[in-house]
Amino acid sequence: MSIWQPILPYNAVCCRYSEIGTKGRNRGDFVRHLNEGLKRRLDAIFGGVRFEEERGRVYMYPSQERLLTAEEVEALRREIPALPGIASVSPGWRCGRNDLAAVEDYIRKTFPVVYEAFAKAFPLEQRTYAMRVNRIDKNFPLRSQEMEMRFADWILSEHRDLKLDLKAPKLRIGVDLRPDGIFIDYERIQGAGGLPAGSGGRALALLSGGIDSPVACYEMIRRGTYVDFVTFHSSPYTPEAGLTKICDLARVLNGFQKRGRVVAVNLLPLQKAIRDTCEEKFRTIHYRRNMMRLASVVAEFFEDEALVTGDNLGQVASQTLTNMRVIEDACPMMILRPLLVYDKLGIIDVAQKIGTFDISQIQVPDSCTVFAPVGPSTHANLGAVRADEAKLDLAPLLKQCLEQTTIMSTLNYAAHSFTELLEAPLPM
Ligand code: ATP
Ligand code: MG
Repeated sequence: MSIWQPILPYNAVCCRYSEIGTKGRNRGDFVRHLNEGLKRRLDAIFGGVRFEEERGRVYMYPSQERLLTAEEVEALRREIPALPGIASVSPGWRCGRNDLAAVEDYIRKTFPVVYEAFAKAFPLEQRTYAMRVNRIDKNFPLRSQEMEMRFADWILSEHRDLKLDLKAPKLRIGVDLRPDGIFIDYERIQGAGGLPAGSGGRALALLSGGIDSPVACYEMIRRGTYVDFVTFHSSPYTPEAGLTKICDLARVLNGFQKRGRVVAVNLLPLQKAIRDTCEEKFRTIHYRRNMMRLASVVAEFFEDEALVTGDNLGQVASQTLTNMRVIEDACPMMILRPLLVYDKLGIIDVAQKIGTFDISQIQVPDSCTVFAPVGPSTHANLGAVRADEAKLDLAPLLKQCLEQTTIMSTLNYAAHSFTELLEAPLPM
């Protein structure tokens, strides 16, 4: 959707919830999570915001009373479409209840400006308009329809090319008449829907540098799940840049939630043993089985309830149902695969919308490519994989990987040791 709306004098932002308005008992918590998410995002844009809550709505004002700047409105247009839990957001004008004169004044002043931009953006035959009045405040002197007609008379007589279209108008004036004030807007910025971040449990995501796993993380966050991150590298066979890239991805994802932690595990001790001991065609599967075991240790430690991957059915050799089953066999935790049936193009769309695509495009060798087999098994036999794996002395190898595990700072990429993990029981 192209944005044609001009920047008007706006003194407030109205945010409408997504599904959460309907959740009876948990509403309070949901609204709290939503507000926290909005505040994290908008504080940065506005340099401080003040909230006012009303059933089904949150109004936000810059903390110092002033109009919104053009940059702020543009930032809303750019950032709101990815924010979880939000149905739509409108920059607009808020005035006191019952103040019909203020509504008239605002619309008469702003409508000509809006119309001018509108007429430039739409050919004659598409110039449809509607005013939608929502009268919750039953004390307001005019009924919704009376209001709509009163303005229609003026607007249609002054702008003869406008046609009324109540169903899908290209130009829409929204007027909300509520007991604690009136809100007028011309623009609705669609949010990402879903549920506000932090309202739906917690999970640990296996984050690689690819396009898929960051989108999988985002989809979980969009359903309200708080996400921590774990990544596997093979230092010194994989470069430091791989970890920087993971931190950059996690920083973008953390823009949608309360900061998730980033853990980096060195898989190399296991990979070497697998290379030297196991069948070549099963290598990738062995890597994956042990990634799951190690991720489970981290998840248990963080009290995360599930693992998340960017697996996508049939996209690459290892992602057949048969192989997923064989990998899952080694995992004591529930594995969530939010992208399982997504189309690649859909995944790329989301990656672009949330701002991870460009980072994912930077080419850095992944841990999985270290000693990668020439002909990986696409339909591995579980019994054969288990028997092959039994040749390894797993426990000390997993310990070695955990010894080389760090927690990363997404701000300065510093790695801190994570020795607490060494006390944790191994999932075997
Ligand atoms: P992605 O685009 O997310 O890398 P992919 O299409 O490349 O996915 P695979 O390489 O088979 O698919 O990986 C499947 C999933 O396994 C990834 O989405 C991710 O969740 C996990 N994974 C793979 N490699 C790593 C790694 N080095 N560190 C953490 N997780 C990984
Ligand atoms: Mg990958």
